[in-house]
Amino acid sequence: MSGFRRVLRRPGETLPWESASALHAQPHDEDMPEIRHSNYFTPRRFYCVETICAPCGVVIAWAKFANAESPDNILQFLQTVYPTEESRPAYICIDKACLVLRHSIANGSWNMWRKTSRLIVDSYHYTNHKTTDFLCRKWCNPAPTDGSAPNLVIVEYDKDGIPHYKRAFNTQACEQLNAWLGGFDSILRRMTVGNFNWFLHTMLSYHSLMVIAKQQQRSDNTSGRSDDTSHSESDGDSDDDDDSDM
Ligand SMILES: [Zn+2]
Repeated sequence: MSGFRRVLRRPGETLPWESASALHAQPHDEDMPEIRHSNYFTPRRFYCVETICAPCGVVIAWAKFANAESPDNILQFLQTVYPTEESRPAYICIDKACLVLRHSIANGSWNMWRKTSRLIVDSYHYTNHKTTDFLCRKWCNPAPTDGSAPNLVIVEYDKDGIPHYKRAFNTQACEQLNAWLGGFDSILRRMTVGNFNWFLHTMLSYHSLMVIAKQQQRSDNTSGRSDDTSHSESDGDSDDDDDSDM
């Protein structure tokens, strides 16, 4: 599974695939006071940044798009990162997966993607998508409980033996990455293009190394408990918010 998310979002932007209740601002969405200086670029005017990351949080790829992210840009980015059928993840989580899916069906690329992958909305944004959108509800639900996507939903039993559904993956890895990167927004906005690229790439590399180190630590701890074989932690997503019961 891959998550996919833009990093820099323009303040106050209305997104056509979201209902009105989705328009709550995150702290990093606040507009920054404009500083005019001939030596500075303000990258947010020119690009938005997209990341692809694994559910554990490791960043797989990032790219800058000119002006805005369009479904076309997203599909091209995915095509570049996953050029072959074997390389493609079974699920790709995008905040506007339904829009990208529609576009992919319309331009014919879905004939290729449908063989390997399904586009789903991350659980954070899914609640704000229109409930009347049949395509979105039918194909982009991040955790359908009708048995149509058994890899996305697992059944867990509580201490009383009562079963309940649980998300099998963290679909919000990119959202969490986004929130963390948001702290660097004001720095990034004032960088030259070269510094922007270097800084972002370095930050994402360090972030991924940290995630991998934490995984290693957790797996060392788990293997140390030789008598605890009944408890196995799923890859990296056992300790985040997205594991909440549904
Ligand atoms: Zn939708």
